[in-house]
Amino acid sequence: MSLDFGPAVALTCRECGARYPLGPSFACLECFGPLEAAYDFGNVTRADIESGPANIWRYRSLLPVPADVAGKPNMNPGWTKLVKAGNLGQTLGIKSLYVKDDSGNPTHSFKDRVVAMAVEAARNFGFHTLSCSSTGNLAGAVTAAAARAGLDACVFIPANLEAAKIAMARVFGGKLIGIEGTYDDVNRFCSELIGDPLGDKWGFTNINLRPYYAEGSKTLAYEIAEQLGWRLPEQIIIPIASGSQLTKIDKGFKELVALGLVEDTPYKIFGAQAAGCSPVSTAYKAGHEVVQPVKPDTIAKSLAIGNPADGPYVLDIARRTGGAVEDVTDPEIVAAIKLLASTEGIFAETAGGVTVGVLKKLVETGQLDPEAETVVLNTGDGLKTLDVITGESAQPTAVIRPSLDAFRAAV
Ligand SMILES: *Cc1c(COP(=O)(O)O)cnc(C)c1O
Ligand SMILES: [Zn+2]
Repeated sequence: MSLDFGPAVALTCRECGARYPLGPSFACLECFGPLEAAYDFGNVTRADIESGPANIWRYRSLLPVPADVAGKPNMNPGWTKLVKAGNLGQTLGIKSLYVKDDSGNPTHSFKDRVVAMAVEAARNFGFHTLSCSSTGNLAGAVTAAAARAGLDACVFIPANLEAAKIAMARVFGGKLIGIEGTYDDVNRFCSELIGDPLGDKWGFTNINLRPYYAEGSKTLAYEIAEQLGWRLPEQIIIPIASGSQLTKIDKGFKELVALGLVEDTPYKIFGAQAAGCSPVSTAYKAGHEVVQPVKPDTIAKSLAIGNPADGPYVLDIARRTGGAVEDVTDPEIVAAIKLLASTEGIFAETAGGVTVGVLKKLVETGQLDPEAETVVLNTGDGLKTLDVITGESAQPTAVIRPSLDAFRAAV
């Protein structure tokens, strides 16, 4: 079998630097550290990228995918809008604010980006089934991408997820298994399944394909820089579940600088969590370097990972870049969803409520510079977490008979 991962040439350990051939492995045999893709980039120019398709494949020369990837059946996610958020910026007192709106992806969350990498890895390794442990959005992204790629799908979620995320994961076919427990229980179960003959030839996007999967998040960094006119933002607010997205956005910015595609200007990375699942924020505030696992209890279910694999790396990046990690309560999350919707016309899922809520809190506590250019991520669609919009907000302003008199009386 000859593998084609384009510019990716090896896997390396993030802890000890040990090098391994490209394969479906994810932990270092020397030190158990996580493995990630290492590259031998050719000469990559802005013009090459700009002449590519309006999706993540415009960056294929920076990703672990074959050169002909765009011609294969896949979901073609990415190139989502970077919305100039003047109204929200004015409300919060931020001079220059953008929302990177990843609800515009094919299955309405950022997860389509990472799954697209995992599909290529599954093809390379001859896997017939695509799987994952999911907090919701990943399950739908995997079953959809498997349907398009002609792979079987069997995905695992905590049994108590939002109805919309369950329906979304089922409609594409494949099997959806609800596990009694938290995401962390689901993840542990999947790790056992990988070692069992039952899971043979299965690609778990976020476990044994994780070194490939995770690279998909770099495309958020590339797109933001290109959409800003090939420069880095000064501040960025990123949600944290496992912390993978945040660490890979940092990696993406650094690659753009190393390749000479953007100027080497400083940027601060801020991480955002829900107070009901804030192990990284808690460690950040306490000045710790390790992350103490928690049992999640929050409406932001897509971010509800109590034992985040990339937690220590997130702490390092927030401290090194001069950013911070902050958290907001469930009521603050709902208020932030409504604030973003009513100022910018963007309906975010709870994860977007977390980032916008944290943005507001960072300004109010003086942790964020309101004069510096700022990007806040919305990583999912509000229609998937409709159940958090309750009470008056879930009702019409008034219900009347179809007459002018009735309308006049009501308003
Ligand atoms: C999965 C997910 C994230 C981030 O996940 P990481 O594990 O930190 O990479 C962010 N937002 C949404 C909506 C998600 O589904
Ligand atoms: Zn190692």
